[in-house]
Amino acid sequence: MYNEIKSYSNEHNVLLVAVSKTKPTTAIQSLYDLGQRDFGENKVQEMVEKHKQLPSDIRWHLIGHLQKNKVKHVASFAYMIHAVDSLELLETINNQAAKHGRKIPVLLQFHIASENTKFGFSFDEACDILDYITSHPMQNVLISGVMGMATFTDDQNTIRKEFKLLKIYFDQIKTNYYKSDNNFKHISMGMSGDYLIAIEEGATIVRIGSSIFGSRN
Ligand SMILES: *Cc1c(COP(=O)(O)O)cnc(C)c1O
Repeated sequence: MYNEIKSYSNEHNVLLVAVSKTKPTTAIQSLYDLGQRDFGENKVQEMVEKHKQLPSDIRWHLIGHLQKNKVKHVASFAYMIHAVDSLELLETINNQAAKHGRKIPVLLQFHIASENTKFGFSFDEACDILDYITSHPMQNVLISGVMGMATFTDDQNTIRKEFKLLKIYFDQIKTNYYKSDNNFKHISMGMSGDYLIAIEEGATIVRIGSSIFGSRN
């Protein structure tokens, strides 16, 4: 399948999201012509514009922080929303998806890096929300896994430790909440600088921008 890459080892089956933020539609079209269908953007307006201009079978992944008041602009077409970091955002996505008769796959973002600038839940915060959802099911979102970003560092041990932690969170949540739910299966972790470590630590989705499209300014 064109949308799933085999990594360097056959044990892994990893989805490549080509992160096209700041890059022109011509660059996306070139990669599309080679068979890539999954693209990632971090800004709502940019994703909306590109969605309008490019082929309709592109699967648009919103990977950046999302404000509640902007969900309505992407609810009709977002293939997956990676960075859900509050119950309010989840409820907004659920409501907006309902208006379009959709079930939108979403990932819960965890704060695994040492920088405090990065968004995301702690494990306990996520469990509180999952407890709430268990008693108040949401019909129009599919909780499909977890997402995280490692610390921006050259220290591979730090990065590996953080990815291991995200995998542990995933496994715990899978066991405690989604044992028999096949939708909960994704670990979105790994960017240009650290995707090999991420795959070794269990990533099912990698989000790669600059090593595909070149550096951004
Ligand atoms: C920009 C971005 C990426 C891709 O980063 P690269 O280092 O260019 O591969 C991945 N994930 C998120 C959330 C991003 O904002």
